[in-house]
Amino acid sequence: MSFSVAIDGPAGSGKSTITKKVAEDLKFNYVDTGALYRSLTYNFLQNNLKKLEEEKIKNILEKTKIKVLFDGSIQRQLINGEDVTEKIRTKEISKYASLFAKSKNVRDYLITIQRNLAKKENVIMDGRDIGSVVLPNADVKIFLTASVDERAKRRFNELKEKSLSLEEIKEEIKKRDFQDKNRQIAPLKKTDDAIEIDSTFLTIKEVVDKIKNIILKAKEVK
Ligand code: C5P
Repeated sequence: MSFSVAIDGPAGSGKSTITKKVAEDLKFNYVDTGALYRSLTYNFLQNNLKKLEEEKIKNILEKTKIKVLFDGSIQRQLINGEDVTEKIRTKEISKYASLFAKSKNVRDYLITIQRNLAKKENVIMDGRDIGSVVLPNADVKIFLTASVDERAKRRFNELKEKSLSLEEIKEEIKKRDFQDKNRQIAPLKKTDDAIEIDSTFLTIKEVVDKIKNIILKAKEVK
Protein backbone atom coordinates (compact mmCIF):
# COMPACT_ATOMS: atom_id res chain seq x y z
CA MET A 1 0.00 0.00 0.00
CA SER A 2 1.35 3.45 -0.81
CA PHE A 3 2.24 5.98 1.87
CA SER A 4 1.22 9.61 1.52
CA VAL A 5 2.49 12.78 3.15
CA ALA A 6 0.72 16.15 2.92
CA ILE A 7 2.71 19.35 3.43
CA ASP A 8 0.68 22.55 3.54
CA GLY A 9 1.61 26.09 4.33
CA PRO A 10 1.68 29.69 3.12
CA ALA A 11 3.78 31.16 0.29
CA GLY A 12 7.47 31.32 1.15
CA SER A 13 7.32 28.93 4.10
CA GLY A 14 10.00 26.78 2.44
CA LYS A 15 7.59 24.03 1.43
CA SER A 16 9.00 23.20 -1.97
CA THR A 17 12.70 23.26 -1.00
CA ILE A 18 12.04 21.13 2.06
CA THR A 19 9.54 18.77 0.46
CA LYS A 20 11.88 18.14 -2.48
CA LYS A 21 14.76 17.26 -0.14
CA VAL A 22 12.64 14.95 2.04
CA ALA A 23 11.35 13.21 -1.12
CA GLU A 24 14.87 12.70 -2.45
CA ASP A 25 16.16 11.29 0.84
CA LEU A 26 13.21 8.94 1.38
CA LYS A 27 12.77 8.06 -2.33
CA PHE A 28 9.19 9.30 -2.44
CA ASN A 29 7.59 10.99 -5.46
CA TYR A 30 7.42 14.72 -4.91
CA VAL A 31 4.28 16.42 -6.21
CA ASP A 32 4.29 20.21 -6.33
CA THR A 33 0.60 21.08 -6.62
CA GLY A 34 1.29 24.83 -6.84
CA ALA A 35 2.89 24.09 -10.23
CA LEU A 36 -0.46 22.72 -11.44
CA TYR A 37 -2.29 25.92 -10.42
CA ARG A 38 0.48 27.92 -12.07
CA SER A 39 0.22 25.89 -15.29
CA LEU A 40 -3.53 26.44 -15.60
CA THR A 41 -2.95 30.13 -14.83
CA TYR A 42 -0.41 30.32 -17.67
CA ASN A 43 -3.06 28.87 -19.96
CA PHE A 44 -5.73 31.38 -18.83
CA LEU A 45 -3.36 34.29 -19.42
CA GLN A 46 -2.49 32.89 -22.87
CA ASN A 47 -6.24 32.93 -23.56
CA ASN A 48 -6.36 36.60 -22.46
CA LEU A 49 -8.33 35.81 -19.31
CA LYS A 50 -7.30 37.87 -16.29
CA LYS A 51 -10.54 37.78 -14.30
CA LEU A 52 -12.41 35.17 -12.34
CA GLU A 53 -15.12 34.48 -14.93
CA GLU A 54 -16.31 30.94 -14.24
CA GLU A 55 -18.05 30.39 -17.57
CA LYS A 56 -14.91 31.33 -19.51
CA ILE A 57 -12.75 29.30 -17.13
CA LYS A 58 -14.98 26.27 -17.72
CA ASN A 59 -14.80 26.65 -21.51
CA ILE A 60 -11.03 26.94 -21.48
CA LEU A 61 -10.65 23.96 -19.11
CA GLU A 62 -12.79 21.80 -21.41
CA LYS A 63 -10.16 22.32 -24.08
CA THR A 64 -7.17 21.93 -21.74
CA LYS A 65 -5.09 18.80 -21.26
CA ILE A 66 -2.53 18.90 -18.47
CA LYS A 67 0.13 16.23 -18.24
CA VAL A 68 2.51 15.77 -15.31
CA LEU A 69 5.79 13.97 -15.87
CA PHE A 70 8.55 13.10 -13.42
CA ASP A 71 12.03 13.64 -14.78
CA GLY A 72 14.23 12.46 -11.90
CA SER A 73 13.38 14.82 -9.07
CA ILE A 74 12.01 17.43 -11.48
CA GLN A 75 8.27 17.61 -12.07
CA ARG A 76 7.40 18.79 -15.57
CA GLN A 77 4.00 20.11 -16.64
CA LEU A 78 2.68 20.04 -20.19
CA ILE A 79 -0.32 22.10 -21.17
CA ASN A 80 -1.84 20.88 -24.44
CA GLY A 81 1.57 19.46 -25.29
CA GLU A 82 3.55 22.63 -24.42
CA ASP A 83 6.17 22.21 -21.69
CA VAL A 84 5.51 25.12 -19.31
CA THR A 85 7.75 23.95 -16.43
CA GLU A 86 10.05 26.98 -16.53
CA LYS A 87 7.53 29.48 -17.94
CA ILE A 88 5.30 29.32 -14.86
CA ARG A 89 7.91 30.82 -12.49
CA THR A 90 7.18 34.47 -13.14
CA LYS A 91 5.90 37.27 -10.92
CA GLU A 92 2.80 37.62 -13.09
CA ILE A 93 1.90 33.93 -12.72
CA SER A 94 2.47 34.06 -8.93
CA LYS A 95 0.05 36.97 -8.74
CA TYR A 96 -2.70 35.46 -10.91
CA ALA A 97 -2.35 31.88 -9.61
CA SER A 98 -3.88 32.80 -6.25
CA LEU A 99 -6.75 34.52 -8.09
CA PHE A 100 -7.55 31.51 -10.30
CA ALA A 101 -7.02 29.17 -7.32
CA LYS A 102 -10.32 30.57 -5.97
CA SER A 103 -12.25 29.13 -8.93
CA LYS A 104 -14.47 26.11 -8.26
CA ASN A 105 -13.92 24.88 -11.82
CA VAL A 106 -10.15 25.06 -11.40
CA ARG A 107 -10.14 23.23 -8.05
CA ASP A 108 -12.54 20.53 -9.30
CA TYR A 109 -10.41 20.04 -12.40
CA LEU A 110 -7.22 19.59 -10.39
CA ILE A 111 -8.49 17.44 -7.53
CA THR A 112 -8.74 14.21 -9.54
CA ILE A 113 -5.37 14.81 -11.15
CA GLN A 114 -3.75 15.31 -7.73
CA ARG A 115 -5.42 12.25 -6.20
CA ASN A 116 -4.38 10.07 -9.12
CA LEU A 117 -0.78 11.15 -8.64
CA ALA A 118 -0.91 9.84 -5.05
CA LYS A 119 -2.55 6.51 -5.85
CA LYS A 120 0.23 4.20 -6.92
CA GLU A 121 3.44 5.20 -5.26
CA ASN A 122 4.69 6.74 -2.04
CA VAL A 123 4.13 10.42 -2.39
CA ILE A 124 4.91 13.65 -0.60
CA MET A 125 2.67 16.41 -1.90
CA ASP A 126 2.85 20.11 -1.08
CA GLY A 127 0.21 22.80 -1.43
CA ARG A 128 -2.45 24.62 0.54
CA ASP A 129 -5.31 22.11 0.87
CA ILE A 130 -3.56 18.75 0.62
CA GLY A 131 -4.25 17.60 4.20
CA SER A 132 -7.70 19.18 4.31
CA VAL A 133 -9.17 18.35 0.89
CA VAL A 134 -6.95 16.50 -1.59
CA LEU A 135 -5.60 13.75 0.69
CA PRO A 136 -7.68 13.92 3.89
CA ASN A 137 -6.48 10.39 4.78
CA ALA A 138 -2.78 11.16 4.31
CA ASP A 139 -0.56 9.12 6.64
CA VAL A 140 1.33 12.22 7.76
CA LYS A 141 0.19 15.84 7.63
CA ILE A 142 2.56 18.74 8.20
CA PHE A 143 1.63 22.41 8.39
CA LEU A 144 4.72 24.46 7.70
CA THR A 145 4.78 28.11 8.73
CA ALA A 146 7.23 30.99 9.22
CA SER A 147 6.72 34.66 10.08
CA VAL A 148 5.85 37.03 7.23
CA ASP A 149 9.14 38.91 7.77
CA GLU A 150 11.18 35.72 7.49
CA ARG A 151 9.28 34.49 4.42
CA ALA A 152 9.76 37.84 2.68
CA LYS A 153 13.47 37.80 3.53
CA ARG A 154 13.87 34.29 2.05
CA ARG A 155 12.06 35.27 -1.17
CA PHE A 156 14.15 38.44 -1.45
CA ASN A 157 17.39 36.48 -1.07
CA GLU A 158 16.23 34.03 -3.77
CA LEU A 159 15.70 36.82 -6.34
CA LYS A 160 18.60 37.02 -8.76
CA GLU A 161 17.86 40.56 -9.87
CA LYS A 162 16.46 42.59 -7.03
CA SER A 163 13.54 43.82 -9.11
CA LEU A 164 11.36 44.12 -6.02
CA SER A 165 12.22 45.63 -2.66
CA LEU A 166 11.92 43.62 0.55
CA GLU A 167 8.92 45.75 1.50
CA GLU A 168 7.19 45.04 -1.85
CA ILE A 169 7.75 41.30 -1.46
CA LYS A 170 6.31 41.46 2.04
CA GLU A 171 3.18 43.17 0.71
CA GLU A 172 2.84 40.59 -2.07
CA ILE A 173 3.16 37.71 0.41
CA LYS A 174 0.55 39.28 2.69
CA LYS A 175 -1.83 39.62 -0.27
CA ARG A 176 -1.36 35.99 -1.30
CA ASP A 177 -1.80 34.84 2.32
CA PHE A 178 -5.05 36.78 2.51
CA GLN A 179 -6.39 35.31 -0.74
CA ASP A 180 -5.35 31.75 0.21
CA LYS A 181 -6.75 31.89 3.75
CA ASN A 182 -10.00 33.66 2.98
CA ARG A 183 -11.24 31.99 -0.19
CA GLN A 184 -14.51 30.08 0.06
CA ILE A 185 -13.34 26.80 -1.40
CA ALA A 186 -10.45 24.88 0.18
CA PRO A 187 -8.84 27.76 2.10
CA LEU A 188 -5.37 27.36 3.55
CA LYS A 189 -5.77 26.08 7.10
CA LYS A 190 -4.18 23.68 9.51
CA THR A 191 -6.23 20.55 10.11
CA ASP A 192 -6.49 19.20 13.67
CA ASP A 193 -4.42 16.14 12.80
CA ALA A 194 -1.57 18.10 11.18
CA ILE A 195 1.73 18.68 12.95
CA GLU A 196 2.70 22.35 12.83
CA ILE A 197 6.35 23.24 12.29
CA ASP A 198 7.36 26.88 12.55
CA SER A 199 10.54 27.24 10.50
CA THR A 200 11.24 30.89 11.34
CA PHE A 201 14.28 30.07 13.46
CA LEU A 202 15.21 26.71 11.92
CA THR A 203 17.63 25.85 9.11
CA ILE A 204 16.45 23.89 6.07
CA LYS A 205 18.34 20.84 7.35
CA GLU A 206 16.68 21.06 10.76
CA VAL A 207 13.21 21.14 9.20
CA VAL A 208 14.05 18.33 6.74
CA ASP A 209 15.33 16.14 9.59
CA LYS A 210 12.26 16.84 11.73
CA ILE A 211 9.89 15.87 8.90
CA LYS A 212 11.91 12.78 7.98
CA ASN A 213 11.77 11.58 11.61
CA ILE A 214 8.01 12.08 11.75
CA ILE A 215 7.53 10.14 8.49
CA LEU A 216 9.84 7.29 9.46
CA LYS A 217 8.09 6.88 12.83
CA ALA A 218 4.67 6.85 11.14
CA LYS A 219 5.87 4.29 8.58
CA GLU A 220 7.01 1.95 11.37
CA VAL A 221 3.52 1.74 12.80
CA LYS A 222 1.65 1.46 9.48
O1 C5P B 1 2.96 27.05 -4.11
P1 C5P B 1 2.88 28.08 -5.20
O2 C5P B 1 3.25 29.45 -4.77
O3 C5P B 1 3.61 27.66 -6.44
O4 C5P B 1 1.33 28.11 -5.61
C1 C5P B 1 0.79 29.07 -6.47
C2 C5P B 1 -0.62 29.44 -6.00
O5 C5P B 1 -1.50 28.32 -6.21
C3 C5P B 1 -0.73 29.75 -4.51
O6 C5P B 1 -0.58 31.11 -4.23
C4 C5P B 1 -2.14 29.30 -4.15
O7 C5P B 1 -3.04 30.36 -4.31
C5 C5P B 1 -2.46 28.24 -5.17
N1 C5P B 1 -2.46 26.89 -4.62
C6 C5P B 1 -3.61 26.42 -4.06
N2 C5P B 1 -3.68 25.14 -3.61
C7 C5P B 1 -2.63 24.31 -3.70
C8 C5P B 1 -1.41 24.79 -4.25
C9 C5P B 1 -1.36 26.10 -4.69
O8 C5P B 1 -4.59 27.16 -3.94
N3 C5P B 1 -2.75 23.06 -3.27
